[in-house]
Amino acid sequence: MAIIVQKFGGTSVANLDCMRKVQTKVEKALADGYKVVVVLSAMAGETNRLIDLAKEWSTAPDPAEMDSLVSTGEQVSVALFSMLLKDAGIKARSILGFQAEITTDKKYGRARILDINADNMKRQLEDHDVLVVAGFQGCDDQRRITTLGRGGSDTSAVALAVAVGADLCEIFTDVDGVYTTDPNIVSRAKKIPKISYDEMLEMSSMGAKVLQIRSVEFAKKYNMTVHVRSTFSDCPGTYVTQEDESMEAVLVSGIAYDKDQARVTLLDVDDRPGVASSLFSPLADAGIIVDMIIQNTSRDGEKTDMTFTVPRADLDQTIKIIDEIKETLGTRQTLYDERVSKVSVIGVGMRSHSGVASRMFQALKAEGINILMISTSEIKVTCLIEEKYTELAVRTLHESFELEKEGMKC
Ligand code: ASP
Ligand code: MG
Repeated sequence: MAIIVQKFGGTSVANLDCMRKVQTKVEKALADGYKVVVVLSAMAGETNRLIDLAKEWSTAPDPAEMDSLVSTGEQVSVALFSMLLKDAGIKARSILGFQAEITTDKKYGRARILDINADNMKRQLEDHDVLVVAGFQGCDDQRRITTLGRGGSDTSAVALAVAVGADLCEIFTDVDGVYTTDPNIVSRAKKIPKISYDEMLEMSSMGAKVLQIRSVEFAKKYNMTVHVRSTFSDCPGTYVTQEDESMEAVLVSGIAYDKDQARVTLLDVDDRPGVASSLFSPLADAGIIVDMIIQNTSRDGEKTDMTFTVPRADLDQTIKIIDEIKETLGTRQTLYDERVSKVSVIGVGMRSHSGVASRMFQALKAEGINILMISTSEIKVTCLIEEKYTELAVRTLHESFELEKEGMKC
């Protein structure tokens, strides 16, 4: 039995008209000979509405009750959509997270899937042509409802695709794929036909918010190809899939940016074993994700400077933590800068081609953009720059790497 998973986001199920478009996508897959597992999000705006309700009712909503509440958005979508399909004579039924036997840990609001027992789903697929599964939700070992974090239906879809052995996982959304950069900044940005899991991870962690990151991690781990495409057109979108040689031939696949950054510099910290650990352990314990870190060589063997970046929303807490430990670190002064952003060039082609970093520095220099920090990985070069130059940097890098020439039109 050939199975396909089709996931539709909130804007795709926002109202009856939209759901009718979704119905045509499902009918097409049926006509192609597939049994279809449809995964739905809540109708657009519904999850936010429920979160706001909880805040009205309670100053500190109980996390488990919160999940019980916000998961209802998806329940509404799957029930309504199943009705539509049944009216059209399609053998379909709705399935909730617990009925799909999606077991998660107990971290309410950001639960992780531990296991999916697909036996029930497979049985149901023998009697039905379409199963309409509520995204975003699972169930812990005490049968309490959990949710997978904002955007979690993407992860539900990929995980279910793996569990039922689907040929493909299609993620239908309101954009028609992954672009070489943000089309709001570069109107000539192109849709990328095929991108590797690793590149996609870098793109989405940098704010190309097309897929929940965890869904890409899942897809990579189990090698499930994901096709990101639009509900509102028939054009092919972007395939997120295993790396192949044709991908390496492309030097750079995309330019990403992240304005949500702050830079912290500690001047004259002691240059002795244990300093980095006394600084970064309390930050990690507070759940603060530190990204770029630079430690200078010490000038006199005693003192050095340490610079790093944190998400801007975590800056206040970072300052508090540093205030508590600065004596131990021996630092003379701490500097903070909130007006910074990261721009990155990303591409698996960097593994086999040299010169990407220098070309990036050259392009930034040509626009007079000063680089504050640099970090590199095997497939990414990132520069921290002043925030006000973000758009200019993205545009000049897109041009310099000739990305408007790649990609596809439709
Ligand atoms: N409805 C949830 C949210 O708005 C999950 C999802 O749409 O993926 O985050
Ligand atoms: Mg989404």
